[in-house]
Amino acid sequence: MTTARIRTIRGDIPADDFGFCHSHEHAFLAGGHPATLSPVLRIDDYDATVAELREFRAAGGRAMVDCQPLGCGRMERELFLASTETEVHLVASTGFHKLAMYPEGHWIRTTSEERLKDIFVHELTEGMYTGTDTREPEAAIDTNDGIAKLAVDAKAGIIKTAVDADRMADPDKRWFAAAAAASLATGAPIVCHTETHEEAIWLADYYMTKGVEPRKIILCHLDRTTERPETHRELARLGCYLEYDTIGRFKYHSDEEEAELLLRMLDWGLADRILLSLDTTRARLKHYGGDIGWTYLLDRFLPMLRDRYGVADADIHRWMVANPAEAFAFI
Ligand SMILES: [Zn+2]
Repeated sequence: MTTARIRTIRGDIPADDFGFCHSHEHAFLAGGHPATLSPVLRIDDYDATVAELREFRAAGGRAMVDCQPLGCGRMERELFLASTETEVHLVASTGFHKLAMYPEGHWIRTTSEERLKDIFVHELTEGMYTGTDTREPEAAIDTNDGIAKLAVDAKAGIIKTAVDADRMADPDKRWFAAAAAASLATGAPIVCHTETHEEAIWLADYYMTKGVEPRKIILCHLDRTTERPETHRELARLGCYLEYDTIGRFKYHSDEEEAELLLRMLDWGLADRILLSLDTTRARLKHYGGDIGWTYLLDRFLPMLRDRYGVADADIHRWMVANPAEAFAFI
């Protein structure tokens, strides 16, 4: 038993009640600029997502972390309604994505570090803003005048961040600084989109230098390549969480290669630093016409780990239940 609590979109719950969790998904993603970059990102059919969530729950799923932050297609109202309807715990994101996710002239490109921090803290402690793809949320912080109304009192539960070359080149590193400050002010975990091992090392180091504890840092997608697992070992030994989701994504590698990576981390005694998910786009969600759906871990991948690789139920429980309960807790 812990006293830790997780900030879901329907309110805080004891971490022990979170249950089987996909640690990085996109339950909804509105049409707009992100979908113009890649049409498969668009996940905006309420009934299709609810159907997908129902199947997930029927298979044993209980919780999911939605990793689309404000300003780039987050659908906070639908997240709230779908969570209420399906009783799947959903955690929403404040924070920011890669710079490419925001069109020229988007407010987040020019907002100061201090204001970004205030926005993130507000979303984590008061409630999320709506309409932020096209409007600045600041007007509502002081005046609450209806320009950007709060979304049904629903709060964000994590700070999503994304490292890319443009952002790293920014001399102030203001987006990352704002995320670190908001985490330190609230206790919220920071979820980090990374594309290379070098970026992950840089970002973990940056946040730790700012005083963020490693257990509050969740590094995503490092398993896109299964080469150089020693880097995973180093980051996990620091105390960061590694979120793996290149599962059922055969353009990167086979599920067998993913299993070998997980076995390696088990051998190194690092099972308590691993989180799993699918990070699906609409191309992989069954109710959007895709091929695997949110039951793939429960129905296919985890049974394969058990049956073919002899992974213990206790380790699977760690990755799917115990580690998410710790990683996503506000403490
Ligand atoms: Zn993602």
